[in-house]
Amino acid sequence: MRDTDKPALTNAPQMYVHYCEEDGCKEWGGFGNSPSKAVPVRWWCWEHFPHKSYEQEQELRRKLEAAELDRGKTQ
Ligand SMILES: [Zn+2]
Repeated sequence: MRDTDKPALTNAPQMYVHYCEEDGCKEWGGFGNSPSKAVPVRWWCWEHFPHKSYEQEQELRRKLEAAELDRGKTQ
């Protein structure tokens, strides 16, 4: 009589990890959007989130440009 090979319980903890889905982007995807409950939520970082309002987009542009200028000063 031999022990039957039982499949090991390999239930990895279901961690809810979602990074920005933009190619090459390593940012945390903190902003999700789904057109309906039947569609899985997709996640992006704020910079790549495609559902920002026009005002939010402009605000982000200003921030990025300011950061760009700062970098230019320090180098
Ligand atoms: Zn991103």
